[in-house]
Amino acid sequence: MSLQERDKKHLWHPLTQHKSHPNHIAITKAKGAVLYDENGNEYIDGIASWYTCVYGHCNPYIIDKVHTQMQNLDHVVFTGFTHKPAVELSEKLIEILPENQEKLFFSDNGSTAVDVAIKMALQYHFNNGDHKGKIIALENGFHGDTFGAMSVSGLSVYNGPFEEFFIDVARIPVPNAENLEEVKAVFTELITEHKVAAFIYEPLVQGAAAMQIHKAAHINEILKIAQEHNVVTIADEIMTGFGKTGKNFASDFIETKPDIVCLSKALSSGMVPMAITSCSQRIYNAFYADDMKKGFFHGHTYSGNPVACSAAVAGIELLQSEEIQVNLKRIEASHKKFNQEIENHSKVASTRQQGQIFALDLNIEMERYGNLRDKLFNSFMSKGVCLRPLGNTIYILAPYITTDVQLQQIYQAIRETLDAL
Ligand SMILES: *Cc1c(COP(=O)(O)O)cnc(C)c1O
Repeated sequence: MSLQERDKKHLWHPLTQHKSHPNHIAITKAKGAVLYDENGNEYIDGIASWYTCVYGHCNPYIIDKVHTQMQNLDHVVFTGFTHKPAVELSEKLIEILPENQEKLFFSDNGSTAVDVAIKMALQYHFNNGDHKGKIIALENGFHGDTFGAMSVSGLSVYNGPFEEFFIDVARIPVPNAENLEEVKAVFTELITEHKVAAFIYEPLVQGAAAMQIHKAAHINEILKIAQEHNVVTIADEIMTGFGKTGKNFASDFIETKPDIVCLSKALSSGMVPMAITSCSQRIYNAFYADDMKKGFFHGHTYSGNPVACSAAVAGIELLQSEEIQVNLKRIEASHKKFNQEIENHSKVASTRQQGQIFALDLNIEMERYGNLRDKLFNSFMSKGVCLRPLGNTIYILAPYITTDVQLQQIYQAIRETLDAL
């Protein structure tokens, strides 16, 4: 029996309605930018497996580091103990994070990194004798699926059963050239009328909102107001971090630096799960006290797992290597060229690009969205390219080692798919 058939017996996949989508493609191997399935088909991983495997699948440099680490120290409790991979990672990561970031707190996935950030912000005010409970978020944001992270995400039709249990959140539109003054006014009003603890945002690119891009100068205006009013700013860089936007972090484009940064996905190079919530000295200082209960009593069993830390250290070393830096520029230029061509296609309404992220919107009506997405996905896969459209948006975020030939295969699959629509 095929893996695809055996899968159906006991497995429950994420974000899936199994009745309409019973089949899952069994991947048996991955190397570089390519996924291999059990029937011998090959697919270029045009989304780096949800932006994780950015240095390529089964990267030998990362495997070597992880292998060595596994033979030395697999895991140890991270309360009362520490180890070299965590220390090394802290030094390397602080060096590249926005300059005000000083402390790292570990968890296991993006959603928990966001929950940690929210708890940090709430307790920061609590420890300072301020009871502030409201969080402001951007409309259509996505921050994860645990309760805190889900609460601060944009409203979704899938949230029905949980909405009454959400934490207290107000949402503002993403600021742009037209609405900036209005959004600033709404934001200021929320801060003056309510006890606002924090503002959470995806800097520059809202991934799950179909790679919507906003301007650094506009979000900076909101961050400045937050800073003036002691509202803790939380940059969710889980998708945008580690070179995706053209700099190490999207926050590097924005003048006002966040108090807290959430990291996961490419953090541990797609090798093992890990997340980090970093913060500034000012946030940390609110927890540093003689009073025991002012400490941050949050913890996950696998916090600071040495193997995951070693994968993260290897990833940062690769990110800083000349080879990857050259690749980043090459892929960005390649997308730019493709953009100039495809934006004139009759099926394309608009295009956008930020560094490694390229997206195009189809000018096809949304009522056909239901099966349009599956139609597009199946068309790409039949051409040996793995792309997962979001609504009527097609986007590329390929591993940084994708070759020019592979990029052309991705572009060709998009051209042919659009021509056939
Ligand atoms: C993926 C993602 C998350 C959630 O991370 P998980 O590891 O899936 O829990 C949160 N925020 C952003 C911006 C993301 O892209």
